[in-house]
Amino acid sequence: MEYRQLTESGIKVSCVSFGGMRLPEITEEQAYKVINKALDLGINYFETAYHYGDSEVKIGKSLGKRRKDIILSTKSAYNDPITGDELKRNVEQQLKRLQTDYLDFYQMWGTDGMDVFVKMIGPGYKYEAVKDLMRQGIIKHVGITSHGKPKDVEIMIESGLFESVTIYYNAMKQEYTSVAALAQKLKMGVVAMGPLNGGFLGEETKEMSFLKRGKAKTNAEGALRFIIGNKNITTAIVGFKTEQEVIDGVFAGDFYEDIADTNDMAVITETFKGMASKMPKSICSGCNYCNPCKEGIDIPGVFKLMNNAKVYGTIDFAKTKYKKAGQKGALCSKCGLCMEKCPQKLNIIADMAEAHELLKS
Ligand code: SF4
Ligand code: SF4
Repeated sequence: MEYRQLTESGIKVSCVSFGGMRLPEITEEQAYKVINKALDLGINYFETAYHYGDSEVKIGKSLGKRRKDIILSTKSAYNDPITGDELKRNVEQQLKRLQTDYLDFYQMWGTDGMDVFVKMIGPGYKYEAVKDLMRQGIIKHVGITSHGKPKDVEIMIESGLFESVTIYYNAMKQEYTSVAALAQKLKMGVVAMGPLNGGFLGEETKEMSFLKRGKAKTNAEGALRFIIGNKNITTAIVGFKTEQEVIDGVFAGDFYEDIADTNDMAVITETFKGMASKMPKSICSGCNYCNPCKEGIDIPGVFKLMNNAKVYGTIDFAKTKYKKAGQKGALCSKCGLCMEKCPQKLNIIADMAEAHELLKS
């Protein structure tokens, strides 16, 4: 496993790290095993969030004495802008859940536009509260995470207020490449979220098998290898759910040498460019922020079926899956609640209608 510099002060983290977003999908016992497997295999950056269900609780229960061996990062609530007082109350809760008395990193989550950013750093709001908690030694470092426009994110990180930036970056979604390069120039850590593009790149489809280059045995490993091949990325967060996934992820963590001297990254980038005309302009990342839908529709699940069908022509496969899942797109009552939570700003109501038309049988 390669370790890369996260902060100018010298903190180094594994180039593949542990994302806690999927821990709510497994039991406490499974979480304990997965987390400890990751620790055993050298993963030392763990990230979670206030809104990841019981993820913080499971991490807290699993770490025990090993807490001191890792860089633990969690995020603020995303109902921005929240006040400084609200943030402090949340942090108190988060420390209890995580069974710790300090946080290595606290991420300003949901900073998706300049209006939110300006308010967030203003008097009485989140940033001021975080600085206060830093003076008390409760928070050690502050980072920012954003799905905003790359140009806006560049302005945010040039403010000099943060030590790391977390961006959505993978072989298919390279919009934040310039942000990663600028962050490195500013000596900031760069954390890549969404390495498999919401699981899309992790499927063993033959159409994505061009990712399997060098030592990569699976499409997922190929996708991780691509991210690690970008020296401007400090670490790629993977939402592990099984010990085997951890083993595979760590294997991918050794790939930098394998990709450093090849033109594989250029080949992958060019291949995706060629496919781009078939891609929906804005694609669901599978982040799951929109769930639960009040009608019980698995929104990212339906969109994944639709997008795969459009790009690869796997329409029969998609229809079968959609039917098995109850063809629930038809139940959308157009309440719009999901759209308020979507960081990709998708028109979920229209997309759901389109998906149902395409996939119903
Ligand atoms: S708009 Fe449709 S898909 Fe979105 S939450 Fe409401 S019912 Fe569910
Ligand atoms: S529709 Fe939006 S919020 Fe829901 S999973 Fe996709 S990207 Fe995330």
